Amino acid sequence: MWIVPESAITGLVDEQSAFDAIEATFAAMSRQDAYNFPVVREGLGAGRQYGFKSGLDRVGHLLGVKAGGYFPGNAERGIPNHQSTVYLFDPDSGKPTAMVGGNLLTALRTAAASSISIAHLARKDAKVLGMVGAGHQSAFQMRAAVRQRAFERVIGWNLHPEMLSRLAETAAELGLPFDAVSLEELGAQADVIVTITSSFDAILHDAHIRPGTHLACMGTDTKGKQEVDAAILARASVFTDEVAQSISIGEAQHAVAAGLLEEGAIVEIGAVINGTHPGRASAEEITVFDGTGVGLQDLAVASKAVELAVERGLAQEIAF
Ligand code: NAD
Repeated sequence: MWIVPESAITGLVDEQSAFDAIEATFAAMSRQDAYNFPVVREGLGAGRQYGFKSGLDRVGHLLGVKAGGYFPGNAERGIPNHQSTVYLFDPDSGKPTAMVGGNLLTALRTAAASSISIAHLARKDAKVLGMVGAGHQSAFQMRAAVRQRAFERVIGWNLHPEMLSRLAETAAELGLPFDAVSLEELGAQADVIVTITSSFDAILHDAHIRPGTHLACMGTDTKGKQEVDAAILARASVFTDEVAQSISIGEAQHAVAAGLLEEGAIVEIGAVINGTHPGRASAEEITVFDGTGVGLQDLAVASKAVELAVERGLAQEIAF
């Protein structure tokens, strides 16, 4: 069994390998070659969330689970609020094959998912990237997003303005100008909007969003969370990683519960990747990607990390 500690992950899986691994995973899910098991997610009190995301990819030969969650007090301890570990097993024998640090991989696989949605759904002429959220994940989201379109500018809003420096610094690292804006300005100017917050109420409202916008809603991964008004999903074409998660723990939970969106109208992004759904229908269409985060994403990037770590002598082997 291989151990790939969190400290070995940096520099191992880059944005392109995460994009490729996750795109292949979404495609496999849409072909029914791979599926996720029901998510276990428990509130531990004081805002802490803990759970298990798992699945099987029959063709990719992956079986495993990510155990982890969100611990909002960690920032004061100097460690990321998100903490997770991925365990991989041989799908034929059930024997454990690897234990892999999942913190950086979670950020990479989550950013890869929204960037895949931008690659397949955003208008080709998108120039302005809007960021809602400035926490740990936001920098990864921005770095992955700007690879997909010729963005000329980044604009951002965050509930806690003191955190906006993260967006400014990341944009500077990417050679792009950054402006902090109001939500009205963000909706009026952004061609692509990534939301990545811990919000439990809609931040973006229907009136904020203009035709042609692509939204990647990435923060809502638990029952009760919400980043955008259900009315936006009602007039948009809605795509997701997995419909079952989208309607239960994703952004679409609210629109579906309110009767504004039919479950059957939500399209898995894998169908667009496989070419069985055409994706964006017009330059005016609003597209929403409800990125709930599926276990198979974690298994895919963890497996890539093991492959690269073994190749580079960074994995420890233990008899188990
Ligand atoms: P973080 O704690 O570092 O940052 C939290 C962000 O949310 C900050 O921008 C903060 O200002 C904002 N925020 C906090 N409370 C808010 C509120 N009530 N209203 C509006 N904004 C609020 O967290 P992070 O690691 O950047 O993660 C952000 C979110 O993304 C978390 O909710 C996490 O669960 C989620 N997440 C989703 C996936 C996925 O696959 N979909 C993966 C990882 C993380």
